Amino acid sequence: MMMKVVIATHNKDKLKELKKGLSNLDIELLDLSSFPDIGEIIEDGETLKENAFIKAREVHKLTGLPAIADDTGLEVDALGGKPGVYTARFAGENCSYLDNVNKMLKVMKNIEDSNRSAIFKTIMAFVDDKTELFSIGEVKGMIASEKKGLGGFGYDSIFYVVNEGKTFAEMSIEKKNIISHRGKAIKNFMPKLESYFKTDKTTKESA
Ligand code: IMP
Repeated sequence: MMMKVVIATHNKDKLKELKKGLSNLDIELLDLSSFPDIGEIIEDGETLKENAFIKAREVHKLTGLPAIADDTGLEVDALGGKPGVYTARFAGENCSYLDNVNKMLKVMKNIEDSNRSAIFKTIMAFVDDKTELFSIGEVKGMIASEKKGLGGFGYDSIFYVVNEGKTFAEMSIEKKNIISHRGKAIKNFMPKLESYFKTDKTTKESA
């Protein structure tokens, strides 16, 4: 029987990208819609890695199944690497994607093009009974001075990838998944996950 793995996110946009990216694995991917009793998980870690493991460990504990989670942060050089671990709450608790984008455009309003560089980072965590694995993916870009494109989610309309001449929101999900922070984290994770599902060995990665 195929092994079941739960993707530990309530974010439908992330879920879409994760399901596509992980679809080559020989496992059955479930999501939290199969576990309606699991509410929001408090992400009170101090790093992306801590938060990714908080989500994956909690969902593993509650479901008894192996769980995969991602945590993502946007580090803007002109803001000293902020918002980083606070990316989701940049415009305040319970803010919308649009609130965050508008706040970013506002704080970056007078910053010159040469100083608008930023990095999107994703840490993915996998937790099973005796096994913890993680991977990292990063992509460099620039904070655009206005929103462009209708695809994607979150900060996609203002994250401009210089080599592509486009924001993430102007790309197809397939293209974004090849070059994005999450796409790279998935790609880096694949060999580890493939070998885990083949051998079911006990592994715990150190930081
Ligand atoms: P978290 O990983 O769910 O904590 O997400 C952190 C913040 O980054 C949220 O505001 C998301 O909307 C945003 N975010 C996560 N992934 C992406 C992405 O791929 N593109 C744009 N924004 C993202």
